[in-house]
Amino acid sequence: MHSRLESLSPKKRPDHVNLSGRVLFLTKDAELVRRQLAGEDLPFPDDLELRDDISTDEITPAYICYYYDARLGEFPYLGLKCGDELPVTRGSVKAGGFACSVSGKRRGKGSSREQSPYAEMCAGIRLVIAESIERIYCENCQNLGVLTSTDFSLIERVRSGEEIPLSVFTEGAGDITRGVIEYGGLFQYNVARLQGSATVPAVATGPRPMTLAEKIFVRHWVVDLSRDQVGVSHVRAGDEGFVRTDIRFSHEYVTPMAAIFWEQHVGADAKIVDPESVLFFRDHLTFLELAMTDERKADGLLDVALELKAKQEEFAEKQGVKLYGELPRIGRNEVPRGSEAICHSKILEQYALPGHLIIGSDSHTPHAGAIGCVAFGVGTTAIFNSWLTKDVRIRVPPSLLIRISGKRPQQVTAKDFMLQILRHPYVRNGHAIGKIVEYAGEAVKELSVDERATMTNMAAEVGAFTGIVAPDEKVVDFLARERGLDPDEVRPLLAGLYSDEEADYEEVIDIDADSLRPMVALPGDPGNGMFIHELGDRVKVDVAYAGSCTAGKKSDMDMYALVFQDAARAGRRVHLDVECFIQCGSQEVKRYCEEKGYLDLFARVGAQFIEPSCGACINAGPGVSYDTETVTISAINRNFPGRSGPGQLYLASPYTTAASAIAGYITQWTPGQIPDPIEAG
Ligand code: SF4
Repeated sequence: MHSRLESLSPKKRPDHVNLSGRVLFLTKDAELVRRQLAGEDLPFPDDLELRDDISTDEITPAYICYYYDARLGEFPYLGLKCGDELPVTRGSVKAGGFACSVSGKRRGKGSSREQSPYAEMCAGIRLVIAESIERIYCENCQNLGVLTSTDFSLIERVRSGEEIPLSVFTEGAGDITRGVIEYGGLFQYNVARLQGSATVPAVATGPRPMTLAEKIFVRHWVVDLSRDQVGVSHVRAGDEGFVRTDIRFSHEYVTPMAAIFWEQHVGADAKIVDPESVLFFRDHLTFLELAMTDERKADGLLDVALELKAKQEEFAEKQGVKLYGELPRIGRNEVPRGSEAICHSKILEQYALPGHLIIGSDSHTPHAGAIGCVAFGVGTTAIFNSWLTKDVRIRVPPSLLIRISGKRPQQVTAKDFMLQILRHPYVRNGHAIGKIVEYAGEAVKELSVDERATMTNMAAEVGAFTGIVAPDEKVVDFLARERGLDPDEVRPLLAGLYSDEEADYEEVIDIDADSLRPMVALPGDPGNGMFIHELGDRVKVDVAYAGSCTAGKKSDMDMYALVFQDAARAGRRVHLDVECFIQCGSQEVKRYCEEKGYLDLFARVGAQFIEPSCGACINAGPGVSYDTETVTISAINRNFPGRSGPGQLYLASPYTTAASAIAGYITQWTPGQIPDPIEAG
C-alpha cells in the first residue's frame, strides 16, 4: 500500500443526512427552468413535464469538459435543451442554492464523462432524483459521493429540511455499492478496503449455467486483494465484487482529472500500479482549434482545453505510461495534424484478447467486445482508483440476448442492425439500461470483426453495461491478420468462451435480418430510427461526415470506397452543395487506405480525408455544423442535441453516408447504381 494511504482514516457518513436546499426541476418548458433559476420554487407534481433522456452532453457539453477541476461548478446544464431553448446560464445553478436536481427517464445517458456529476456536485447538487438513471452516470455519482434515487417522495423531505436516513439511498444496493455510498465515495471505500476495515463479502453463487460475460467475470473476480487471489467458480446477476482488469485506458478528457485526484489523494510522487497495462490517448481534442469558434477562443476556452493535453503528457511521462499522442504539428503556425489513434480503435487493433476484462474512460469501450472481451466504460474516479488497486467494482448485470437470424440484404450493415435495435420498444423504454447485451445469431456470425465492433461499440447508445459477441474463427483470422499472431496460439484463448445453453437472459430479442432495410435515425436521438424509404420528402444534406471510432475502421473504409468507386465509374463526385469528410480511427487504418488506393479515390470524388481523431463526432473538428439549419448525414454513433454542433444530424450506415454525399440528399446505396443528384442551389 502507498505510505500516504496508511495514515488516512476513512469514516462513514452519519446514519441520517440533511440535504436541505432548493429543488431544481429540469422541465421540458424553458420558462419554468428560468423561473426556478430566478428564485421561484415550483410546486410538485402539479403537472410538471420533466425532461427525459438528459444526456451528459447536455449536463456538461463537450466544451465545458475542458475544465477538469472545481471550476466545473459554474456550468452544469448549460447544454440542457428545453424545446429549442437553452435556459441555463453560467453560474446560475450554483447561485440558486439547489441541493437536489430532478428529471425524467434515462438521466445521464450518453458519454461516461464524470465531469457531469462533478459539475453538479461542485454547483451544490447533493441528490439526483430521476425516473431512471443510466448506469455509468449513476456509478459516477456514487463514486463522487452524490446521492441518487428514483423515489420522488424524497422531494418534499428535502424541501422541508428533514433528516433523511442514509438507508433510503442504500436500500436494495449490494454490499459494495452500499459501502461506497456509506463512505461517501469510492476512494474512501477503497482505502478502507486496503486497510481491512471494509471487507468485500465472498461470492456464494454455486454451479449454474453461465453466459459468456459471466464466465469472463469469474476468471477475473478478486477474492483477496491483499493476497492477490483472483478467480471464483460461478457468479450470477446481482453478485457484487471487484474484478481484476487486463487493460486500463483513458483519454485526455479524463486523464488530467484522474491525475489531479491521484495527486491529491494518493500523492504527487506515488506510482501507478503495473503501468504497462495502462494506456493514455490524445484523441478527442486534437483538431479542436480548427473547429472552435472565435468567440470561444476569445473566452479563453482553447487555452483551457490545451491544459488537458499538457497535463496528460506530463503525467504520462512521470508515470512511465504509454501515451498515444498527437502527430507532430505542421509549419510555423503549428497546425494540428491529428492523432495516432482513437482509444478503443487502438485497443481492439493491438491490445485486446478474447477473454480480457478491459476498462476505459469512454462509454464506447465495449468496442473490444467484438472479439469476446468484457470491456466497459467507467468514470474518472473508477479509473483513478484502478491505478491503485488494478481492479474495478462490479455488480454483475443481467444479460439481454439479441439474436439476429436470416441473411441481411447486401446494403444492410451492422449500423442498420443497431438503429433497428435502438428503436425496439424494449430499448427505447430504457429496459436495456445497465444490461450486458450479447449479440448472436447467424447474421451476426456472418459479420466481420470490424462490423461486430460497430454493434458492441453502440451498446453505449443502448444504455447497456457492455456488448459482447462470442469469439470464433473470424476472431482467430482477425488476430492473425491484424497482429500477426499464430492462429494455433490464439485458438486456445477461445476455450470456454461461449454461453451455456441454459444460461439466464432477462430478455431475448429476435430480429430477422431479411426484413431489414437501410435505416436512418432522425436528429436528436439514435433511437429515432426509420427505414430510409419511409423518410417521405427528400432531406437535403449539407455535410456528410464519415468517420469516428464506430465508422472509421477498415471495413467502414471499404464501404465508403465501394460507393465512391461506383460514383467515380459513373463520372460523379460529391454533390456541389455537400462537404464530405472521411476520418479514420487510427494510423493503421490510414495505411490500409493508402495500400488499397482509397486515399486517391476519396480525393478524386471530392471527399476530404482527415487523420485520426474524434473530431466532429464530439464537436471538435472538421465536419461540425455551425448553425441550426445545417443538415448532416453521418455514420457516427450518436446524435444527441448539440453533439456535433447546433445542426440537425441524421445517423446512418457508411454506405448511406457515402451515397447521400454523392446524391446531395439522404438516400440508400443500391449496389452498382448512383442516384441522380438533387438540384444544386
Ligand atoms: S469518435 Fe466519438 S464516440 Fe468515438 S471515442 Fe471519439 S468522441 Fe467518442
